[in-house]
Amino acid sequence: HSYPSYSKLLLLCTLSGGGVVAYAELQSDSRPPSVDPNEPRRKRVVVLGTGWAGTSFLKDLDALKYDVQVVSPRNYFAFTPLLPSVTCGTVEARSIVEPVRNIIKKRRGEIKFWEAECVKIDPANKKVFCRSSVDANLVGSGDFSLEYDFLVVATGAQVNTFNTPGVKENCHFLKEVEDAQRIRKSVIDCFEKAILPSLTDEERRTNLHFVVVGGGPTGVEFAAELHDYVQEDLIKLYPTVKDIVKITVIQSGDHILNMFDERISTYAEKKFGRDGIEVQTGCRVVKVTDKDITMKVKSTGEVCLVPHGLIVWSTGIGTLPVVRDFMEQIGQVNRKVLQTDEWLRVSGCESVYAIGDCASIHQRKIMDDISSIFKAADNDNSGTLTVKEFQDVVDDIILRYPQLELYLKSKHMLSVTDLWKDPQGVDREEIDIEGFKLALSHVDSQMKTLPATAQVAAQQGAYLARCFNRLEYCEEHPEGPKRFRESGRHVFRPFQYRHLGQFAPLGGKQAAAELPGDWVSMGHSTQWLWYSVYASKQVSWRTRMLVISDWTRRFIFGRDSSRI
Ligand code: FAD
Repeated sequence: HSYPSYSKLLLLCTLSGGGVVAYAELQSDSRPPSVDPNEPRRKRVVVLGTGWAGTSFLKDLDALKYDVQVVSPRNYFAFTPLLPSVTCGTVEARSIVEPVRNIIKKRRGEIKFWEAECVKIDPANKKVFCRSSVDANLVGSGDFSLEYDFLVVATGAQVNTFNTPGVKENCHFLKEVEDAQRIRKSVIDCFEKAILPSLTDEERRTNLHFVVVGGGPTGVEFAAELHDYVQEDLIKLYPTVKDIVKITVIQSGDHILNMFDERISTYAEKKFGRDGIEVQTGCRVVKVTDKDITMKVKSTGEVCLVPHGLIVWSTGIGTLPVVRDFMEQIGQVNRKVLQTDEWLRVSGCESVYAIGDCASIHQRKIMDDISSIFKAADNDNSGTLTVKEFQDVVDDIILRYPQLELYLKSKHMLSVTDLWKDPQGVDREEIDIEGFKLALSHVDSQMKTLPATAQVAAQQGAYLARCFNRLEYCEEHPEGPKRFRESGRHVFRPFQYRHLGQFAPLGGKQAAAELPGDWVSMGHSTQWLWYSVYASKQVSWRTRMLVISDWTRRFIFGRDSSRI
C-alpha cells in the first residue's frame, strides 16, 4: 500500500485576554487505507476506555497492523490532574478535554470509535457486549457486540465509598469532568444561600462549611484550590460572610498525603494550619446525611456530628461493575482490580490485556530472583555478606529491577542501613542476608501494587502499544532481538515502571514535588515547575493553549463566579 500523506498548516489566531496567540499544527492524512481483498485478515483489537491508559495505547499503536475498535462512554480524553482546578474555575472544563476523534484521526490507518459502554466481557467467545451511551431519544438500537482477537481493558475505576451509608446520595465525587462542573456550581450555591437575609448565623456557618473526606493528593489539592478561590475571589464578592467560611479535611490515616515523602506531608499540614484549613486525622466517616457527617475518632472511639454545606468524597478507587463481572468469570474473586502478569496480560485469560487503574501487576519472581542473587554471592554459605559483597548485590538487584532503585536508594534503604550498625551504632563488618531479605520483602510487597496514577496508566499504554507493534515481527523471528530469554513466557521484556516524580499543589501559589532520587522540592518555585510540567503534558497544542490562556485570564481577571 501507499498512503498519500500531506501536511496541513493550520494557523489559528485567537484573540484572548488581549493577546494574540497563534500556533501551527501539523496533521497527517486521515483517509482510511484502501482494502486489498487478497490481504490476510488483520487481527482485531478492541480497546475499552479512552482515559490515560487507552489513549496512550492508541497514540503509540501502529494502527495499520490491526483492525482497531475503541469503545468508551466518553468521546473525549480528560486531563484528570487539572480536574481540581475546574471545580473552582481556575481552568475551564473544555480546556482539559480533547475529543477522541481528534486523537485518532491523527493516526495512520483506521481506528473506529464507538461512544458506548461495555456492559459485559465474554472471554470464552472473545466478544464484548456494548450499549450506546447516547441518551437522547433517537431511533435505532444502541446495543451491539464486537468480536476481538485481542482485548485491551482500560476502563479505569470508580469511586470507592466503602459502602458508607448516605455517601452516594449526599456527597460530590471528583472523578469526571461533570463532577468538577457540579462542584463549581454547588460552591456558588452555598455562598448565595448563606447570604440570604432569612438565615440564622448558625445556618450560614453550616452552609459555608466545606468538607473534604480523604487526605490523598486529590482531596488535598481540592481543599487548596477551594481555599485560594475563597480568599482570592469569593470573599470580595460576599464580604458579609468572609469570616465564617470553613474548610475541613477528614483523613482516616495519621497524616494527609501519606503516600508522599514525610517532609511533604508535614509541610502540607503546617501550610494548611497557617491557612486555616482544619485537618482532622485519625477519623473515619461512618454515615452521611444531607445535614451532617457522623465521624468516629479512631483512637478514642468517640462519635461526633459535623454539619456541612458541601462534601467532596475522595477516598480512593473501587471496581467497576463490568470489571467485577469479568473477574468473577475468570476466577479472580475478592480482588479490587484485575491481576495481570508482568506483560500486562490478564492472568488466566489469553489475549486479554488490562492497563491503568483497573489492573495491577502480580510480580511473582522478584523475591525468588533476589534470593538466588544472594545465594550466588554467599560463596561460603555463611548466611552473611561483607559490606563490599553486599554493595555488589544491591547493584545487581538494581540492574535487574531498575524500578527498585528508588526504594533501595531512598526511604526504605534507611531501614535497610540499620542492618549495617550493631546496637551500639558501630558499623558491622558483615551483613546478615536474612535480615536484609526481610527488609526487602517489604519493598517487594510495595512493588506488587503500582500506584493508581496517570503516569503508570500512560506508561503501560505506551509499553503495550510497543509490544503490539512488534508482535508480528517477533512471532516470525522468535530468536530475538527482544526476546526475554530467561523466563520464556513471552517474547517481550516485562513492563517496568519509571517513576518520574509526583506533585501536590498546596494553594497560595505553592506546591510540593517528590522527584526521582529522593529529591523533594516545596514552595513557590515548585509551583512554577508544576505549571511548566502540566502545560507540557497536555495531549494537544489546542488544550495546551487553552489551559495557558485560562491561567493567564485568572491572573489578570480572577476566577469567574457565575453559576452557569
Ligand atoms: P481513566 O483515565 O479513568 O479512563 C477510563 C476510561 O474508561 C474512560 O474513558 C471511561 O469513560 C472509560 N470507561 C469506563 N467504563 C467503561 C466501560 N464500561 N466500557 C468502556 N469504557 C469505559 N494521576 C497522576 O499521575 N497525577 C495527578 O496529578 C493526578 N491527579 C488526579 C486528579 C483527579 C481529580 C483524579 C480523579 C485522578 C488523578 N490522577 C492523577 C489519577 C489518574 O487520573 C488515573 O490514575 C488515571 O486516569 C488512570 O487512567 P485509566 O486510563 O486507567 O483510567
